[in-house]
Amino acid sequence: MSRPIQAHINLSALKHNLHVAQRKANGRVMAVIKANAYGHGLLRAAEALRDAEGLAVLDIGDAIKLREAGSRQTILLLEGFFSIDELALIAEYDLATVVHSQHQLDMLDAYPRRQALQVWLKINTGMNRLGFTPYELPAVMERLRSHRALRELVLMTHFSHADEAQGIDAQLELFKGITAAYRVPRSLANSAALLRYPAAQGDWARPGIMLYGASPFADLSAQQLGLQPVMTLTSELISVRSIKAGEQVGYAGLFRAERDMRIGTVACGYADGYPRHAVTGTPILVNGQRTRTLGRVSMDMLAVDLSDIADATVGCCVTLWGEGLAVEEVARAAGTISYELLCALAPRVPVRY
Ligand SMILES: *Cc1c(COP(=O)(O)O)cnc(C)c1O
Repeated sequence: MSRPIQAHINLSALKHNLHVAQRKANGRVMAVIKANAYGHGLLRAAEALRDAEGLAVLDIGDAIKLREAGSRQTILLLEGFFSIDELALIAEYDLATVVHSQHQLDMLDAYPRRQALQVWLKINTGMNRLGFTPYELPAVMERLRSHRALRELVLMTHFSHADEAQGIDAQLELFKGITAAYRVPRSLANSAALLRYPAAQGDWARPGIMLYGASPFADLSAQQLGLQPVMTLTSELISVRSIKAGEQVGYAGLFRAERDMRIGTVACGYADGYPRHAVTGTPILVNGQRTRTLGRVSMDMLAVDLSDIADATVGCCVTLWGEGLAVEEVARAAGTISYELLCALAPRVPVRY
């Protein structure tokens, strides 16, 4: 027997969530599978997402792996290329690349092949992370208009507040205004914008988190959005004990029992990707029943309250997140977002599909 922790990846749920995204989108769907498909496994996720019209990654090595594994869709590099050598690979593997900087434009100019590249030109409409300013756009478009290396052009931007009350209006208006003159496809929406703002759909939507069955919103659950969790992280109780009122639990004694109680130790800690900042009271399931974590999360273990789960014994199944317990709830209790928890699943955790 090995350590009982496991991540279960439900590929039918991934397909289901893609279909939710496709029903929402008027145009095509570029499934975002960066960061090892948000921790779900690049190639397995890509295979389940073969109905998506495109796949988006960061790493050119990942893009090549996808092509070599047989993906025929548009494959987009979200940060583009970092050296001129990569342009030859981009052409060879028929990848699409973001171009977001003057530096990248200069490399494009130095690239000799004709009509070899699909470029997604990134415009900064307020995120201030990557992209050309609205002011720079006309000159950049002029420079690309008859560029020898280009085969296709898409205009894209990224919203900074699609999941928040402020919304996307200002960025959307700006983007529409500055791109109105150009007859090329557009790509705007991440998951939050796709789910909430039909006006932001464009020709290509770029959903990520919703595909994995998590809600991008604080005020709407994944279930309310019709999404199914894809990753379920489970483990078992490896120790059960009774403690007396006044006793402490774990490092620094962060939890102190107010009355006599039963507690359990779960084989899961921050070295598995469980957030160390999850506070006492973070929801967790034991035998399918909801209870709470106690005290500080250790590297390999954490403590749970078994006071109301009388039949809990060593070997009982524990769900850290996933089916029956939304990963967003755990993230909130740890002061973070679902994205970070999913991406942080540690390589030491065995994954079952
Ligand atoms: C990560 C990313 C997305 C996907 O965002 P979600 O919030 O996960 O839907 C879309 N577009 C770009 C440019 C990204 O970097």
